[in-house]
Amino acid sequence: MTDVLAITDHRRGELRDVSYEIITAGRELADATGGDLHLAVISGTVEDFAEKLDREGVDVVHTVDYGEEFNHGVYAQATTQLYDELAPQYVLAPNSVNGLDYAPAVANELDLPIVTDTIALESDGETLTATREMYGGKVETTNEVEGSAVVTIRSAEWPAAEGTGDATIESFDADIDEGALGSTVSGFEEVGGGDVDITEADVLVSVGRGIEEEENLDIIHDLADALDATVSSSRPIVDNGWLPKNRQVGQSGKVVTPDVYIAIGISGAVQHVAGMKGSDTIVAINTDPNAPIMDIADYAIVDDLFDVVPALTEQFS
Ligand SMILES: Cc1cc2nc3c(=O)[nH]c(=O)nc-3n(C[C@H](O)[C@H](O)[C@H](O)COP(=O)(O)OP(=O)(O)OC[C@H]3O[C@@H](n4cnc5c(N)ncnc54)[C@H](O)[C@@H]3O)c2cc1C
Repeated sequence: MTDVLAITDHRRGELRDVSYEIITAGRELADATGGDLHLAVISGTVEDFAEKLDREGVDVVHTVDYGEEFNHGVYAQATTQLYDELAPQYVLAPNSVNGLDYAPAVANELDLPIVTDTIALESDGETLTATREMYGGKVETTNEVEGSAVVTIRSAEWPAAEGTGDATIESFDADIDEGALGSTVSGFEEVGGGDVDITEADVLVSVGRGIEEEENLDIIHDLADALDATVSSSRPIVDNGWLPKNRQVGQSGKVVTPDVYIAIGISGAVQHVAGMKGSDTIVAINTDPNAPIMDIADYAIVDDLFDVVPALTEQFS
């Protein structure tokens, strides 16, 4: 039997989508040998979170009621103590900013191997086979790990768990050593771009180098307004300082999974595609019919964006 302990992620009172995806990943692993899936939700409104996380496939949700927001030391200590208590074979954490903060510390503390940024997982109960991408998604590697391990999972690689479960919700009384915490969260300050979170958008109007000049971005914002959508971009737009970093989609930006992703003047480099290939419907607007974005687009408009975008805006206004 292979028990799995999966740690969920939340920020400013909201569970992150990866918290539901990690249920699917954890269930797959636990199913391989008929084990249990233990979820943990640490800090924040844990009772409320636990009810939301009680979806199909979850056996137990452990709540650690300590503090409001993410804190490295709290997560590292609570996860380590949960491991000691439950003795799972695998500890799963999101490959998020938070997950990458505490998961290595947990692996170090427990003297376990760690595999980060995985996109597929299999286990026969003894050997974990974890798939990772390298070179911006050009190469996939499989990594075999014997015995117990800490694993971080990439967001949007597993479908979110659905349905209502019948998990047991248990409060876990973690013995947090406050003297060892080292930091406290005193508040939040959003980096430029305000409170826009492109990972939560249903429709993204995404702009690339084809837009040529900063002042041309007006037509992109107009289309986004007409569609009630959010503006995102490829990296050159951010590198030029035309949009803030929190709008960047891709390997070194954000991973997004909107219902509709409209790629305007974006070639579809592997580093960009890594961040948006999980979108439900991809529309490409590009003058080049051979641009790589065409390989993953559901709909393509092969034409000049300076003609197409205003025409679409007019259509949807
Ligand atoms: C380590 C590393 C990490 C990276 N991380 C990221 C990342 O997170 N996100 C990211 O996006 N990139 C990232 N990159 C950069 C990536 O390799 C590409 O350089 C970048 O995605 C290209 O952006 P683009 O598609 O906007 O520009 P281009 O590749 O220059 O494409 C512009 C496109 O616009 C089209 N076009 C031009 N004019 C028009 C017009 N008038 N009408 C319609 N179409 C037009 C062209 O045909 C072309 O396809 C990374 C690179 C590295 C090395």
